[in-house]
Amino acid sequence: MYTSETPDEKVFAIKPMNCPGHIQVFNQGLKSYRDLPLRITEFGKVHRYEPSGALHGLLRVRAFTQDDAHIFCSEDQITSECLNVTNLILEIYKDLGFENVILKYADRPEVRVGEDEIWDKAEASLLKAVKASKLEYSINKGEGAFYGPKIEFVLRDAIGRDWQCGTVQVDLNLPGRLDASYVDKDGTKKVPVMLHRALFGSLERFIGILIENYAGKFPFWISPLQTVVIPISEDFEEYAKKVSNKIREAGITSMVDLKNHNLNYKIRDHSLAKIPLLIICGKKEVDSNSVTIRRLDSNKQENMELNSFLKKFSALNKAPSNI
Ligand code: ZN
Repeated sequence: MYTSETPDEKVFAIKPMNCPGHIQVFNQGLKSYRDLPLRITEFGKVHRYEPSGALHGLLRVRAFTQDDAHIFCSEDQITSECLNVTNLILEIYKDLGFENVILKYADRPEVRVGEDEIWDKAEASLLKAVKASKLEYSINKGEGAFYGPKIEFVLRDAIGRDWQCGTVQVDLNLPGRLDASYVDKDGTKKVPVMLHRALFGSLERFIGILIENYAGKFPFWISPLQTVVIPISEDFEEYAKKVSNKIREAGITSMVDLKNHNLNYKIRDHSLAKIPLLIICGKKEVDSNSVTIRRLDSNKQENMELNSFLKKFSALNKAPSNI
């Protein structure tokens, strides 16, 4: 990965940072086969001087955040590590609403570094991980990186557009070039294999894809504003504020709408803003320490005791795989 020196520089100096940086971390202290696999991750800021005409919302920006990680492992661990990454990526995509994921496997290009024997091994290990995922995959002959084969994860959004996001790349070159080594079981010095992996690619771009996929209508747990509390008149403002505070204490985002509009106007307004949950407070709610909730796209209202409401929605405020 290539990043600039600082975001503020007038000249966008390009120099490699994260991949070699992680090798430097690996090189601190003698490593043995027992230390492998060793996984290092960071959110790295990347700056690219894209021409202004190429900029496109969150999908193409000049400064973005990459979820960059490197896994140092032995040749024998390539398959299991790649499979771990694949499973993690699939779980995350599924939680975020993408079930339709296609794998693209790319093998050796004509111009490359490294011995063919090592390529054979790396390709076979990676392909094994691809097959074990049991997903649809395509083989892009000759389109691997010059330093190793790779898998790209392409997700399909709600209206059938494809987006390439995650990737796992085997690197047979950089660790050796930067003198990375470990002591193997038999006491010999070996060069570890490095896997570059990104789950999202660019976080900004991924958020752009999410917004497109849901057309702004986010599921409750990832909605930036999850609830709006609406008092039906001034008399219930204090109660509405109390409810909103309790919701925030429960880790759910909330605001109170104290504007001088009637209830129907406010419901319409917040529905257009695609707020997943509206919470209405009037006399009935104050008297019974409850809330009346209205979900986006439903005309039904449901009254719930405040504590049961908090309990129920805190439990739902998680990635689906954690519920
Ligand atoms: Zn890398």
